[in-house]
Amino acid sequence: MENCLFCKIIAGDIPSTKVYEDDKTYAFRDINPMAPVHVLVVPKTHVASLDAVDALSDELLAACLRTCRTVAHQEAIAESGFRVVSNCGCDACQSVQHLHFHVLGGKKMAESMA
Ligand code: AMP
Ligand code: ZN
Repeated sequence: MENCLFCKIIAGDIPSTKVYEDDKTYAFRDINPMAPVHVLVVPKTHVASLDAVDALSDELLAACLRTCRTVAHQEAIAESGFRVVSNCGCDACQSVQHLHFHVLGGKKMAESMA
């Protein structure tokens, strides 16, 4: 989609530090990491948020979660534990309107999630 930051990153028009890619998903390092490992996983098809996933196939949605797991293993945080977060909408402070999953790890997370 035109004027979508993450679509431009997927297309290679804006640089990113790629961690993993397959035919359905793309994973890259967050520019402002909140943990020692902070990777963003996005579907290559544009949808704005989790609230718009009716427009995504189940296969593509599942592929995102599989990629989160792949990233956790690749980044060696699967054994110690990791957190996956998807902010959706205003109250959740979603700042980029292309569905994405934050994969966070490499430290003991705060117990509070909100
Ligand atoms: P959210 O606030 O949940 O929408 O997450 C958007 C995330 O995208 C934030 O954690 C930002 O740090 C990250 N971000 C914004 N621009 C870039 C970029 N050019 N490359 C990598 N991450 C980015
Ligand atoms: Zn997009």
